[in-house]
Amino acid sequence: MNIPKKLSIAIDGPAASGKSTTARLLAKKLGYIYIDTGAMYRAATLAVLKKGINPEDSKNAGKAVAESEISIKIILQEQHTFLDGEDVSKKIRTPEIDRNISVIATNTDIRKIMVAQQQRLAEQGGVVMDGRDIGTVVLPDADLKVFMIASIEARAQRRLQDQAEHNLTLQEIKDDIERRDFADMNRSDGPLKKAEDARELDNSNLSIDDQVDQIYKWVNELIA
Ligand code: C5P
Repeated sequence: MNIPKKLSIAIDGPAASGKSTTARLLAKKLGYIYIDTGAMYRAATLAVLKKGINPEDSKNAGKAVAESEISIKIILQEQHTFLDGEDVSKKIRTPEIDRNISVIATNTDIRKIMVAQQQRLAEQGGVVMDGRDIGTVVLPDADLKVFMIASIEARAQRRLQDQAEHNLTLQEIKDDIERRDFADMNRSDGPLKKAEDARELDNSNLSIDDQVDQIYKWVNELIA
């Protein structure tokens, strides 16, 4: 199929709702760039922890992120996240980052930096961007907005498989997901919420291929 216009696609949803995998595969299918904004908040959290700053110290945490260079590069069709030139793609997926990220994500100074950077990355269109505030704050004019949801059971099972090496129990993972969702939904700046014009996709019982196909269908409908 010929895809003429370079669309901007926003995919939001709660933790471990399968956004990243779906967004990555969709971008590949469309020949678009995929941007995982959660990875940028994760790198910001690592920047603060590495400098020995308490994430609750919002002023110094904001300063630490402003002075750090967070960038993303696509290498062999995978997003790699860099902090001050170091590839931290693996280091940002640990329980320690998960525990500290909610405080960083409520920091208004840090959100401003992240949102501006994400808007620059999406300037040219032809992007699939996933996160929490993409359809509402980062790309309010996105051509297609998707809000992905899934049951807590399905989400915890997925995270258990992704983080097998960290030996967490299913209950610990559930608790962390619920704690992060609560913090994400209840912050005042860029909370997790479905944009009014977003289409909801419940993927509790869908395979990854089904999810990608559904969004791909919506993209085709938009273009037609
Ligand atoms: O998507 P992921 O689970 O990796 O995101 C990690 C955390 O980053 C989220 O729990 C949320 O607190 C924060 N985040 C955010 N806004 C985004 C993307 C992620 O606040 N656009």
